[in-house]
Amino acid sequence: MQFTDFDLDPRVQQNLRVMKFTKPTPIQEQTIPAGLEGRDILGSAETGTGKTAAFMLPLIEGLLAGRRSRTPRALVLVPTRELALQVADHGAQFARGLPLRFVTVYGGAAIGPQIQAFKRGVDVVVATPGRLIDVMNRGHVRFNQLETLVLDEADRMLDIGFLPDIRRIVDALPTDRQTLLFSATIAAIYKLAREVTVKPIRVEVEKAATPDAIEQTFYPVEEARKMDVLQHLLTGENLESVLVFARTKRRVDRVARKLRRFGVNAGVIHGDRSQSQRVKALESFRHRKTRVLVATDVAARGIDVTGISHVVNYDLPMKAEDYVHRIGRTGRADATGAAWSLIAPQDESMALRIQRTVDKRIERKSVAGVDTGRSAKLVPMPKEKPKSRSYRGSLKKPARRRRRA
Ligand code: ADP
Ligand code: MG
Repeated sequence: MQFTDFDLDPRVQQNLRVMKFTKPTPIQEQTIPAGLEGRDILGSAETGTGKTAAFMLPLIEGLLAGRRSRTPRALVLVPTRELALQVADHGAQFARGLPLRFVTVYGGAAIGPQIQAFKRGVDVVVATPGRLIDVMNRGHVRFNQLETLVLDEADRMLDIGFLPDIRRIVDALPTDRQTLLFSATIAAIYKLAREVTVKPIRVEVEKAATPDAIEQTFYPVEEARKMDVLQHLLTGENLESVLVFARTKRRVDRVARKLRRFGVNAGVIHGDRSQSQRVKALESFRHRKTRVLVATDVAARGIDVTGISHVVNYDLPMKAEDYVHRIGRTGRADATGAAWSLIAPQDESMALRIQRTVDKRIERKSVAGVDTGRSAKLVPMPKEKPKSRSYRGSLKKPARRRRRA
């Protein structure tokens, strides 16, 4: 199947050619036709599989078919400002040369210019929920002409606690709209889906067990020695572009500061940085001016930087599925990559859960010449729990026992 098989405007087809989009990904192949028919969609596929085009192309076609208006006809809600910018940019590329205006609305930046943008007329709003509510409360946007609502990274929006905001926004929208809901994981969003969609088609692209192209390694290390190990790992060759994850904003800052002291030019991205700082850090990472970017999960989620060669988990994530999102950054666009995780003693149970989630045993290594305080070899692998108490992958859940009345 090719993009040319979809019934898309010739100008959009031309843009797709320029963008080198020839073959749709599975999620695109399965959702775009239904989206073009105007149906509601509940789509899930892992990070990096092209969900943006899956909703953006039907959205754009819908706008081209409909009647122009000065007020927004499409709204895309996303969890973070980086995603707002990225998604709007992506959309504008698909819509190049078309009379469609994209506006981004997000917190952490002055509200004035965002409000001004509405005055010039808007077709598509890409927004984070909190700031959009601000703009709505000030009476600067009306959604009575709205045709399409998209919730992108819906699971993450719920994680961040955006549900009340989302409900308020949805309440202000016409009910005869089309709603497209996209998420990396679907289980978390059923409830929201019931509230906002009508008879959606459900498309779930199965999680490919982590791409084989990604080499995964655990480095057992004492907490106090993590920096030594990280420094050593970063001196290796072929480290073109490294995304380092740490647990908290403060730890992100600390890791970056120490790396700079060692002469590694490291950028930082987390929620306490100003919008311009975040954009700058991301841009210089994207353009390889900084080789290393240190981030928290929330800030890094959904960010599309191609060609990341290495992901380093300075700290393990709080949830095993976040590990999959993190390391998915290296496997994008056929690039091979490596994911290295520092495992402190208190991380052993999470390490085990991660292995179960990716469904393979991850090799443990020590770092030559660095005293990690832990042995890579002597730590016995904890035994897997019997299968009846856990389940592999996330697709087949054990039947829930019905509670007796
Ligand atoms: P997701 O939202 O699922 O994480 P994105 O929509 O951000 O994924 O897409 C990830 C990357 O893949 C982007 O750089 C995008 O341009 C590219 N991409 C998406 N679909 C295709 C396709 N069909 N052909 C080529 N590149 C694609
Ligand atoms: Mg996305």
